[in-house]
Amino acid sequence: MKQLKRIKGTQDILPDASVKWNALEGTIRQVMQCYNFSELRTPVFEQTELFSRGIGQLTDIVSKEMYTFEDRSRKRLTLKPEMTAPIMRAYQENKLYANAQLTKVFYIAPLFRQERPQAGRLRQFHQFGAETLGSADPGADAEIIDTALSVYRKTGITGLKLKINSVGDPLCRIPYKKQLQEHIRPNLEHYCEDCQRRFDENPMRILDCKKETCVALNQKAPKLLDNLCPDCETHYHALKSQLKTLHIEFEEDPYLVRGLDYYTRTVFEITSDALGAQNAICGGGRYDLLAEELGGLPAPAVGFASGIERLIMVAEAQGVELAPLKRLDVFLIGMDTEAKPLILRLLKDIRKAGFSADQDYLGRSMKAQMREANRQNTRFVVIIGTDEIKKNSVSLKLMDKGEQISIPFDNLVAEIKKHYS
Ligand SMILES: [Zn+2]
Ligand SMILES: [Zn+2]
Repeated sequence: MKQLKRIKGTQDILPDASVKWNALEGTIRQVMQCYNFSELRTPVFEQTELFSRGIGQLTDIVSKEMYTFEDRSRKRLTLKPEMTAPIMRAYQENKLYANAQLTKVFYIAPLFRQERPQAGRLRQFHQFGAETLGSADPGADAEIIDTALSVYRKTGITGLKLKINSVGDPLCRIPYKKQLQEHIRPNLEHYCEDCQRRFDENPMRILDCKKETCVALNQKAPKLLDNLCPDCETHYHALKSQLKTLHIEFEEDPYLVRGLDYYTRTVFEITSDALGAQNAICGGGRYDLLAEELGGLPAPAVGFASGIERLIMVAEAQGVELAPLKRLDVFLIGMDTEAKPLILRLLKDIRKAGFSADQDYLGRSMKAQMREANRQNTRFVVIIGTDEIKKNSVSLKLMDKGEQISIPFDNLVAEIKKHYS
């Protein structure tokens, strides 16, 4: 029979790699706790409409990449391709704003997009992120950026670049869009097809185009940063001044935009040279108008999302170990069947004391069991032979020191504790 394979664009996180994932998730949780974000877990699937309204029909995600299906009752459902819309839905539906006027949540979640598989682009990928809901204060924006950077700092990866921009709000953006369209119109035919398609609905996305001809044509385009209304201007200045106070270096990128109308004011991106062309490891910004887009009460909000696979790629490229080498604390070797009940008892005592411990279940020779203990980087090997049983003792091998001592069984856990480092 044909052996079944995993779906293209998905991956198994094998035991050697899951150690890193666990360590990284531990770091994320620790930083989120320090910054006072609480976890919010949402379902893996939602009504399709949440994403078509919450991300926008015109985006690649909604038009080409979603895993959408009908269930048995013909409801249209989608595996979540991003977390901002589900978080906002959960915030509104559960009235989180009623308990606290400011809600700070984080997530670590699998997401699904049917993209062409290529390096770093998976159909099931994972992101972590944080969202502050209920505040329009630029301090919340600075804190979101600081939170993301703190996670990276704590993992040990370096060389990241922060780019920021302001995309204004409807008050300054509507006149700016007209100005931009007027600037582009005479040369529109020279822009790429994607840009021509964006011209009417979403001209600001044209500034984001990475194609050489478009980049060149955009050189003289008017910048929204020069056309912000007074409130957006004040907000942007306050953000920059808070980043400076926090000693966070940033670069202003007037062409950094998010294409959707509900994004307001702050947008940012964190990039790493280690990732090549698709170099963003984190993106985020303020989306004060999303709540209403989803049919809820107005709620200003700001957040970031960061790819976990990408973070791991950066760590690997930089030789950063996300997790310490996995070691087994104790491996017990019985020389004959008489030792079996004693091994079981000691194994239980050692585990109860909080140490990791294991034994052989394959009936291997003593030599093969020692090899297994070495393969698992074991700290202590306990050897129980017929002589030892007669003397109520065991041999404890301290693998790092290369010493072997004979001790009474009742002292075994105490001895392990003593020599553990
Ligand atoms: Zn273009
Ligand atoms: Zn404005």
